[in-house]
Amino acid sequence: MSDDTFKKITSHAKEYGFIFPSSEIYDGLSAVYDYGPNGVLLKNNIKTYWWKAMVQLHENIVGLDAAILMHPAVWKASGHVDAFHDPLIDNKDSKKRYRADNLVEDHIAKIQAKINKEIKKARKRFGNDFDEEKFLNESPRVLKYREQIERIEQKLNKALSNNDLQALKQLILDLEIADPVSGSRNWTDVKQFNLMFETRMGAVSDSSSEIYLRPETAQGIFVNFNNVLKTSRTKIPFGIAQIGKAFRNEIVARQFIFRMREFEQMEMQFFIRPGTEKEWFSYWKETRMKWHLSLGFDKEMYRYHDHEQLAHYADAATDIEFKFPFGFKELEGIHSRTDFDLKSHEAHSGKKLRYFDPETRETYVPYVIETSIGLDRMFLAVLSAAYTEETLSDGSVRTVLKIPAVLAPVKVAVLPLVKKDGLPEIARKIFDDLKWNYMTAYDEKDAIGRRYRRQDAIGTPYAVTVDHQTRSDGTVTLRYRDSMHQERIRIEDLKKELDAKLDLKTWLG
Ligand code: ATP
Repeated sequence: MSDDTFKKITSHAKEYGFIFPSSEIYDGLSAVYDYGPNGVLLKNNIKTYWWKAMVQLHENIVGLDAAILMHPAVWKASGHVDAFHDPLIDNKDSKKRYRADNLVEDHIAKIQAKINKEIKKARKRFGNDFDEEKFLNESPRVLKYREQIERIEQKLNKALSNNDLQALKQLILDLEIADPVSGSRNWTDVKQFNLMFETRMGAVSDSSSEIYLRPETAQGIFVNFNNVLKTSRTKIPFGIAQIGKAFRNEIVARQFIFRMREFEQMEMQFFIRPGTEKEWFSYWKETRMKWHLSLGFDKEMYRYHDHEQLAHYADAATDIEFKFPFGFKELEGIHSRTDFDLKSHEAHSGKKLRYFDPETRETYVPYVIETSIGLDRMFLAVLSAAYTEETLSDGSVRTVLKIPAVLAPVKVAVLPLVKKDGLPEIARKIFDDLKWNYMTAYDEKDAIGRRYRRQDAIGTPYAVTVDHQTRSDGTVTLRYRDSMHQERIRIEDLKKELDAKLDLKTWLG
């Protein structure tokens, strides 16, 4: 998918009421967005799909909704005050600011693009006989590029894990990386920049009132460990799930809602017996991938990316990456967080955060496996995978959002073929009946073809059309968004049909 398609997706999202820039009448606020009438429906449906998969379908996972504001000591204990920063570099000529690691990653992506070009050329040359695996391992040119990537990655990982800002700058200089805007190679030194938003609480303004907007929802779960344990009769292994806002003062926020300064996370912390982390890590890796695949997008759109450079709290980590219009990027993180957080909160708060295991008769600080997905990123994944332009047999082009029906903002549109002959009255009755169960739209304006296109553009999977035949035999047409196929169905069977198509079990079962 090209840059051009990504632009089309962003403008489609605005035009059809999915996403607006924040405070637009004041020219917007960088990397902050608002969700419009269709956007909020899609966003809520994604939340529900995650929440039900995690909380409703797992007997041993309970929910939580912790506050955004927390005691500042939380962020000292979690390591965010000391370690939640990104390496920043400025270009002296363009005055543009970048994440130093991103500059190197973009350089790697360019080399990867050269490999992809070689593959494309070779595939063309060898046709059906082309063996990609073999080519990747034997083509001298590809091997050279792969070696380059490996060397750069090693240096980058080493510099990042040693917090060696000098080495990071040297890498940028050695690779002759230029500012993508100005082409200049006149760089400042690399500095660390803490990503937490600070604010003040109460009427006093000394430093004791300084607090942070939470940069992740996870800590609200850890500090409530005892409360949940005491009140929910949970036994290890068990999870606590939460959906909520998080804030990060990202150095460079770009790519629409992929990287925002205010965003939402859907996180689950799974508490386990120490020593079982490997098996639970792979369980959650697999389970979360299944959740993604249940939506029916192409399997090729997803891949795992195991981390070599681990965050300060993790002993294993993997990303589920998604093929966004701008390439494969992290959509969800699965982290084996050990007992880092609970232990650190014990040390800082002086309170015990332990579990008495009735099976082994031991008391211990549980280990944790975390699954963490950005709601907005998931929204972008759905939107970009769903966006389709199709040329129809009459040569016209229709834009359709092939959003999985279970997530679609509006499930069904009820349309009288014409605005007379009693058809609107019948259609209204059907609408009034279906709206109790499903987000339903009623539309009688314009020709039927235009109304179908309008529903296609917001991803409504089903359209019910009331025509003259309806009056004589009580049937309507049911039109399918993706195939545009239509079939006749009795009005009284509509609900049963929709129930079967939209039932959670059909999707997640
Ligand atoms: P990245 O490397 O992209 O900055 P991260 O590794 O810092 O992400 P985590 O701290 O693991 O991200 O957060 C978990 C999830 O939260 C991510 O997988 C992503 O979906 C989402 N997320 C993180 N930062 C942002 C952001 N600035 N805007 C939107 N979503 C975000």
